[in-house]
Amino acid sequence: MALNLPRRVSVLGSTGSVGVSTLDLFDKAGVEVEMVALTGGRNVERLAEQALRWRPQIAVIESEAALPELRERLKGSGVEAAAGAAAVAEAASAEVQWVMSAIVGFAGLAPTLSAARAGAVVALANKESLVCAGPALLRTAKLAGGAVVPVDSEHSAIFQVLDPTLAQHVERLILTASGGPFRCASLEAMRAATPEQALAHPNWSMGAKISIDSATMMNKGLEVIEAAYLFAMPPERVSVLIHPQSIVHSMVEYRDGSTLAQLGPADMRAPIACAFAWPDRLPWPAPKLDLVRDGPLSFEEPDLDRFPALALAKQALVMGGGAPAALNAANEAAVGAFLDRKIGFLDIAATVAETLERMERTGALTPSGEDALESARLTDATARHVAAEVIAGLGRL
Ligand code: NAD
Ligand code: MG
Repeated sequence: MALNLPRRVSVLGSTGSVGVSTLDLFDKAGVEVEMVALTGGRNVERLAEQALRWRPQIAVIESEAALPELRERLKGSGVEAAAGAAAVAEAASAEVQWVMSAIVGFAGLAPTLSAARAGAVVALANKESLVCAGPALLRTAKLAGGAVVPVDSEHSAIFQVLDPTLAQHVERLILTASGGPFRCASLEAMRAATPEQALAHPNWSMGAKISIDSATMMNKGLEVIEAAYLFAMPPERVSVLIHPQSIVHSMVEYRDGSTLAQLGPADMRAPIACAFAWPDRLPWPAPKLDLVRDGPLSFEEPDLDRFPALALAKQALVMGGGAPAALNAANEAAVGAFLDRKIGFLDIAATVAETLERMERTGALTPSGEDALESARLTDATARHVAAEVIAGLGRL
């Protein structure tokens, strides 16, 4: 039976970890796609290489300084070259059937909203856009006749086992978490942790920001917010369970005592394949699960004393308004400062907590107006400003 696969596609953030996995999956599956746009942040060499291979209509590099080099590398190829954040968002709005949203951080929000507005199926890896403007993003996609299909492995798992007609019978969503590189580390060891140690994820190979988020478990906190929005679940019905082997990708507990889980090797190409072919299934030479080789499977409760980011994210979700966007911005700023060796590892969550507290005190968490993007932008900018002050204070200690 012929599969009904998307043909016209774009990949936003194609030069990153998820972007590269997406193109690799297309290769391995031998799918025939008409590439419309590829976008990257700074890696002009990789973007040009991808553009020469996939021949999109347009290749966009966010860094304007890199435009001359991109033009030079694409000379004679027929691929249009462009640069800048506005050009990325514009390329995202091109008419396609399917868009991979794999830019990292708040920078992914505007292009993801553009893609949703254009009515495409948005395969969403960029969890920060849901955290910062979840309800607006989902509403936009629905109004435009498109959809948001999760790529984050936990949400893909839930998407695969949650029957929407049974949503009222769901007791809990259970997000699994590997626990990251510091699952068994003491607080003292975590206080002294270097970026190199924090970047060394035991199971997944990912971009720098999400790797640090996994080490602090802010990643799971962002995912709790992401799940609450995506699956319309109240915060108290989204829980987290540590599962060091990263094989059970998440679970749905129904009220009759049945729990459904999705399992697979830790390979992002699987949830990408699912989001690409949905509601079909893509045939490709996927690495298969071998429970005898990869087991036994174990589970434990998360330790909120060592991983306060988890509780902070849930608190921001309960607070609502601009709190999730502020949490996200403060975290992006703090992760950047940690990678630049300006603050310690435990200071990341401390910066987020202090930023939220200061903004709540001054009423800066109340959303500013009707337009979700503008409102999120304002909260994001304020939170980065406050977080920079907190970080400067920490540096003086
Ligand atoms: P990455 O850092 O490897 O790649 C990020 C991509 O975004 C790159 O193409 C980069 O050039 C681009 N980019 C960065 N800043 C930009 C800007 N200001 N404007 C435009 N483009 C910009 O990150 P990643 O690990 O691929 O993660 C991408 C997203 O997917 C993140 O939101 C992450 O949380 C999510 N995610 C990743 C994984 C994973 O396995 N890597 C799993 C689940 C979810
Ligand atoms: Mg995940």
